[in-house]
Amino acid sequence: MPLSPRPLSGREAATYRTRVTLLGTAGGPPWWEGSDRQGISTLITVGDAQYLIDCGEGWGRSFRRSGESVPGFEHGIDRFRAVFLTHHHSDHTIDYPNLLLLAWHNGSNSLRQPIQIYGPGDRGSLPPIFGDPEIDPGVWCPESPTPGVHESTEKLLAAYATDINDRTRDEGKRNLRDIFEVHDIPLPTAATAHANIDPAPVMEPFQVYQDEYVTVTAILVDHRPIFPAFAFRFETADGSIVISGDTGVCDNLVTLARDADLLLHECIDPDWIEGRVGAKSGNDDPYLRQHLLAAHTPIDAVGPQAQKAGVRTLVLTHLVPGDTPVDKWQRAERGFDGLTVVGEDHMHFGLGAPIAHDPATLVAAAPEPARG
Ligand SMILES: [Zn+2]
Repeated sequence: MPLSPRPLSGREAATYRTRVTLLGTAGGPPWWEGSDRQGISTLITVGDAQYLIDCGEGWGRSFRRSGESVPGFEHGIDRFRAVFLTHHHSDHTIDYPNLLLLAWHNGSNSLRQPIQIYGPGDRGSLPPIFGDPEIDPGVWCPESPTPGVHESTEKLLAAYATDINDRTRDEGKRNLRDIFEVHDIPLPTAATAHANIDPAPVMEPFQVYQDEYVTVTAILVDHRPIFPAFAFRFETADGSIVISGDTGVCDNLVTLARDADLLLHECIDPDWIEGRVGAKSGNDDPYLRQHLLAAHTPIDAVGPQAQKAGVRTLVLTHLVPGDTPVDKWQRAERGFDGLTVVGEDHMHFGLGAPIAHDPATLVAAAPEPARG
């Protein structure tokens, strides 16, 4: 029986063909006081292929420092195969333009095929107004207020047209449409009609992507009012990895994570919510309190979810707020019989068995991140 996946240094992780690297573990758009966690982003490496899940603030710099980028000038993302966005909240996508625009300069000339990008499609309707219905905030971009990732990407690239035309005409850069292929994830038809009523109806996982290294399936999770919001499962020859995305307590997540080797699950500290809008906060707002609690999974509820799913290792990530102490997050292990790890940026996990033990090989494969 192989060991449960446990945290490894970059050098140890390089001995595994299949490994997971936490590039950023903070949730939410605020800059958390007293925390240097980067925005949410996760890297999966299988052999010479890499997969990026979410593009939170700082993923690029964190990727460079993780030891997982390809060494050498303009080679960093040579191994990227596919990118997956869980949902359209800015803390998961703010450095997506970084990927699109800097790819030219950090590996794309060596890419063997276009990078496949998958994300939620158009929501299809606006979310309801929360709070006082007399206060109408209006609609931003009413001609297309809830675009999917394909349309968003086109609009982002339009905003950067000056740079793109300069690089292609003056520097001979390749057409970006040859470098990226962007896909709205099609929803099973039964799930499409209830964005504002039941955003995560009971369903089975469905396949999103497959290549010779991974099969990726998705399921809708409950991050209302955001819709669609996905969790992803990566099935590899060495084991299975599930990334919850943002979700409240959700049966679909348990379905997707059944018997997984590694579950990366989001988590929120309910005391932080109490401090902002609880009864003793001076800003008592029970509706907003419930609203925040419904969209995320509190510390005490994560362990039971992992237990129901029967996963081997639970890793907490997307921590809100980013500055809650680790020993408090560790309480998530209650109710779970497996290993619980509080995620940190640049933490690695290996799946399957190690494949190389030559220290010289390891140094070449995964240099330690620079200090300072
Ligand atoms: Zn979110």
